[in-house]
Amino acid sequence: MRKISDRLNRLNYSQTFVMSNKAREMKTKGIDVISLTLGEPDFDVPDNIKEAAKKAIDENYSHYSPVPGFLELREAVSYKLKRDNNLDYKPTQICVSNGAKQSIINILLALINDGDEVILPVPYWVSYDEMVKMTGGVSVLVRSSYENEFKITARQLEKAITPKTKVILFSSPCNPSGSYYTAEELKDLARVIEKYPDITVISDEIYEYINYEARHVSIVEVYPKIYPQAAVVNGMSKGYAMTGWRIGYSACPEWLAEACEKIQGQITSGANTIAQRASMAALKTDPKKYRYMVENFKKRRDIVFDLMKGIKGFKVSLPKSAFYLFPDVSFYIDKTINGMFIKDSDDFSMFLLENAHVASVGGVSFGSPECVRFSYAASEKELKEAMKRIKICLEGASIA
Ligand code: PMP
Ligand code: GLU
Repeated sequence: MRKISDRLNRLNYSQTFVMSNKAREMKTKGIDVISLTLGEPDFDVPDNIKEAAKKAIDENYSHYSPVPGFLELREAVSYKLKRDNNLDYKPTQICVSNGAKQSIINILLALINDGDEVILPVPYWVSYDEMVKMTGGVSVLVRSSYENEFKITARQLEKAITPKTKVILFSSPCNPSGSYYTAEELKDLARVIEKYPDITVISDEIYEYINYEARHVSIVEVYPKIYPQAAVVNGMSKGYAMTGWRIGYSACPEWLAEACEKIQGQITSGANTIAQRASMAALKTDPKKYRYMVENFKKRRDIVFDLMKGIKGFKVSLPKSAFYLFPDVSFYIDKTINGMFIKDSDDFSMFLLENAHVASVGGVSFGSPECVRFSYAASEKELKEAMKRIKICLEGASIA
């Protein structure tokens, strides 16, 4: 008998991909859907990175690389972490993977035993909770809300810690809220973590460059005492528009880096060699060269934020980083709109898809059933049209 494992049956599909696939299907049927689902930069890969990839092909980088990545790439990561983040990691502490996504699951697989607890500040990125399930761990959710910029406090964190806590996993800048933790806030969290030496904090910094207000700070930079307890995760997807090239990396204490290598040695044999060589070129380049993408996102953020503020029932604050808006739409929850009962923001997102032909991602899989995520990594024209459609649709709707 063919039977899917219990482990897989416990898992949900990635909601970001579910909604983007839905939008794609509707488009192939000829429906004019605007998709604000996936968080991926819509820029082309910068030319110097493409050239490095072409050169790597010509130079026959066609064999397996070392499992944790080419030494030259790990040196480039180490150089980048010093240059941009003032962090000291040796190449032996770095593991290059097939995207930051894999870096995170590597670390969780390395640390989590059945029943271990992983603290996730809410809202969390969709895959965190599912990855925890995959490893046999249990997510412990720490709530935040629109009112406190979707950030948790050190006191909340400490209250959530139990003898079973193994990991704290968060992203700053945050997908989906668009908030980032300040140096002071990170220090407060780090002071709590330091008290529990068996806990590892995984700091997902994949949106580091997409910060409209401040230079990015890492929890490890502001509180170096937690080096032995920290894993920094980053990658090429967001800052370099290289989502499809699938390169991410982690920087950890050596024992944890070795564990990540052990996992990769059995399941992937390491990341794509051409993309690794291209990433080397990217990381060695002054990030100012790629700043035009951030400037462009900022312009779009301002446009879409102004328009969204005017939409009935949307409570939204200006996101300071990443490229998402995460309005609180509780106004519509437990109501019936045009005959459709809305029990949570996933229903609301579906309502918008069907009635306004705008695709978003409901907040349930981010832990926030009162919010909806809109990615503004789309063209200005699409963003304006999408906001117009939502506004018209909701103003004309019968709400009971
Ligand atoms: N972390 C966060 C917060 C993300 O939004 C994403 C989405 N790309 C990832 C990790 C994974 O990125 P990658 O493409 O490098 O796997
Ligand atoms: N991280 C992006 C997002 O949140 C891409 C999709 C994914 O990796 O889940 O939309």
